[in-house]
Amino acid sequence: MLSSEVLLALCAGAGALAAPGVASMLFGARGVESGETRTEALWTSEMPSMAPAPRLEGNLKVDLAIIGGGYTGLSCAYYAKKLRPDWSVAVLESHRLGSGASSRNSGAVYARYWGLDDEEMPRRGFERLVRFMEEEEIECDFRPSPTLELYASRRSARKAEASPEAGPKWVPTEELREGSHTDHYAGAAELPGYYTVHPAKLVAGHVKAARRMEVELYENSPVMQVKRGKPAVLDTPGGSVRADQVVLATNAYTPRLGCLKTAMMPVHQYTFSTRKLSEEEISGQGLDRWPLRFERSILPVTNFLTPSGHLCIRIVLGYASSNSCIWRDIDGARDLAKRMFEQRYPWIADVGLEQGWHGVTGHTLRVREIAGPVMGDNIHAAVAYNGLGIMPGHNTGYLSACRITGHPEEDMRYMLGRAVQIPIPGEFYRSMLLKPAMKVLTPV
Ligand SMILES: Cc1cc2nc3c(=O)[nH]c(=O)nc-3n(C[C@H](O)[C@H](O)[C@H](O)COP(=O)(O)OP(=O)(O)OC[C@H]3O[C@@H](n4cnc5c(N)ncnc54)[C@H](O)[C@@H]3O)c2cc1C
Repeated sequence: MLSSEVLLALCAGAGALAAPGVASMLFGARGVESGETRTEALWTSEMPSMAPAPRLEGNLKVDLAIIGGGYTGLSCAYYAKKLRPDWSVAVLESHRLGSGASSRNSGAVYARYWGLDDEEMPRRGFERLVRFMEEEEIECDFRPSPTLELYASRRSARKAEASPEAGPKWVPTEELREGSHTDHYAGAAELPGYYTVHPAKLVAGHVKAARRMEVELYENSPVMQVKRGKPAVLDTPGGSVRADQVVLATNAYTPRLGCLKTAMMPVHQYTFSTRKLSEEEISGQGLDRWPLRFERSILPVTNFLTPSGHLCIRIVLGYASSNSCIWRDIDGARDLAKRMFEQRYPWIADVGLEQGWHGVTGHTLRVREIAGPVMGDNIHAAVAYNGLGIMPGHNTGYLSACRITGHPEEDMRYMLGRAVQIPIPGEFYRSMLLKPAMKVLTPV
C-alpha cells in the first residue's frame, strides 16, 4: 500500500540521526486499544450480520491460542484443527471477527508475496486459497479482474512504457482516456493475473469453516498482555487463557500489544465509495473494462468497482503516533479522499459519495511479512503483509499451523522471522519525521 522504497528512504534518513534515549523519554509505551467503534466498511454493510461469538468469561486452557480473528488467525486455526483434530484451538478477537483489515481491504487477490521474487510459493499459496474456497463452498464473488497500472506523471509513464515488460500490455494514451474516462493519467499498462473477491464474504467463509472445525471463537475479548512461559498466559478483561502454543495474528495492531515494535509499524488507509451505480453508468464510464486500477504514485492509490456496483478510492493517510491504529481525524480523511477521487474522476462530484471507512496495514522495512517464533519457541507471529495480505494472510496462517503442529511442508522455508527484518527507527523518528513526511507526500 505504501511504497516500500519511500518508507525505507524516509526511515533510513531518520535512522541516521539515531537518539533512542530521547525517543523513550518523549514517547512512553502504549497498550492495546480496545472498545473504540470501527467505521463500518461497505463490504460488511452488504452482508447479513454474522452470528456473534461469546466474550471470554473465566479461564481457559488450550493447546493453541490465536490472537486476532482475521484471515490469518482464522486460517491458522482451521488448518491447525485439520492437522491436529485432537487439539483444542481458540481464537481471541478484540472486536468482531474479521473487523480488522480483512473486511476493509480493496479485494484484490494476486499470487504474490510482496518482497519475494520467487513465483512458485505464492502460486501454491494462491491455489491453496482457491482450494479452501471450493472445499468449504465459500461464495465470495471470487473472479479474474482486468486490471490497470496507472502512471500520473509523464516521466513515470515514459519510463514504464520503455521497460521490457510493458510490451503489448501498454495501453495507448487515447485508448486509456476514452476507455477509462479520465485524463488524470499519462499512461497505463494492463496487469495480468489479478482476481477480486468480496472481502467480508471471504471473512464469513473463514468463520464458517473455523466453526465447522470446532475452533473456539471469542469476540470482544482483547488480549491485553502476553506472558511468556510454558504454557504462555494471555490476559483478557474477562479471563485468562493458558496455551501451550500462541500465534500473534494481529497484523498492524501487533506493536500496541508490545510485540515487534522495532520490526513493523501500522500505516493508515481510507476508502470512500460512490453510491451504487447503474449498469449504464458503469459501462458509460468504462468501469467494466478495467474494474481494478492501481496508481503507482509515491503513496499509491487504488480504484476499484465492487461486485455490487460501487466505485471506490483507497488512499494512504499516514502514520498515527505511538503505533496507534485509531485515526482521529476521520472528517479530514473523508475530505481528502473525496478531493482525490473528484480530481481523478470529475463526474464523481455529480454522483456523490456514500460510505467511507478506515483501515490499517502492517509494514516492515524488508517489505516481507514476519512469520515464525518471536518470544521463546512457543509464541509465534504471522503479521505484516505490507498491504497485500489476502492470499498471504491465508497461506501464512496455513504455514504457521504446519510449523506449530510439526506437519512437514516445504514452503515453511519461506517464513521470515523477526531476526532478518530491518529495524525501523523508534517513535521519535516515526512521529517527528516519517509522519510529517508522509503528510507532505500525500498526492493532492
Ligand atoms: C484499506 C486496505 C486495503 C487493502 N487492500 C488489499 C488488497 O486489495 N489485496 C490484498 O491482498 N490485501 C489488501 N489489504 C491487506 C489485507 O487486508 C491484510 O493484509 C489482511 O487482511 C491481513 O489479515 P490479518 O488477519 O493478518 O489481519 P487483520 O484482518 O487486521 O486481523 C487482525 C485482527 O487482530 C485483532 N486484534 C488486534 N489486536 C488484538 C488483541 N490485542 N487481542 C485480540 N485481537 C486483536 C484485530 O481486531 C483484527 O481483527 C488491504 C488492507 C487495507 C487496510
